[in-house]
Amino acid sequence: MNYAAIKRTDVANGPGVRVSLFVSGCTHACKGCFNSETWDFAYGRAFSEEAQREIMQALDHDYIKGFSVLGGEPMESQNRGTVLEILQKIKAAYPGKSIWCYTGYDYEKDLKRWIAEGDRTVAELLELIDVLVDGEFVEEKKDLRLAFRGSGNQRLIDMKATKKAGHVVCLPEGNAIG
Ligand code: SF4
Repeated sequence: MNYAAIKRTDVANGPGVRVSLFVSGCTHACKGCFNSETWDFAYGRAFSEEAQREIMQALDHDYIKGFSVLGGEPMESQNRGTVLEILQKIKAAYPGKSIWCYTGYDYEKDLKRWIAEGDRTVAELLELIDVLVDGEFVEEKKDLRLAFRGSGNQRLIDMKATKKAGHVVCLPEGNAIG
């Protein structure tokens, strides 16, 4: 998997100050995408042990609330396996820090279907993710007032509450859980 950037102090993609990873490769081609250079799976550089170390060191501060992975598309089949390894290492070392994942795929229509079809990687990813921001960016629904997402169709899904309830539970508007 290639990646475009690691941000050590990101305040735009989840609550508090976070470390974020922008992976390369995305097949959604949303109109008005803010990050179209990352559509190319070969963009940026190969994710390495050094990059993993950089993330782990950046997370090692009390003021860092968590880790966000976005792109590009973390849930593309080419990226899922590497993203899973990254999240497993983060969860093991920093169980108190929240993990947010941004995907252009739809939780019910895509991710749950893949799991039903036997995709263990996606199932394991969803066990580690605290908040899943799902759905493509829809330019006509762009709203700059929305926290942590670009367009009104996208949801901030609270994965723990969703699993407990058996249906999708979103974070309340303005919620800033860490
Ligand atoms: S899913 Fe995200 S990165 Fe991919 S095209 Fe849409 S806005 Fe861009």
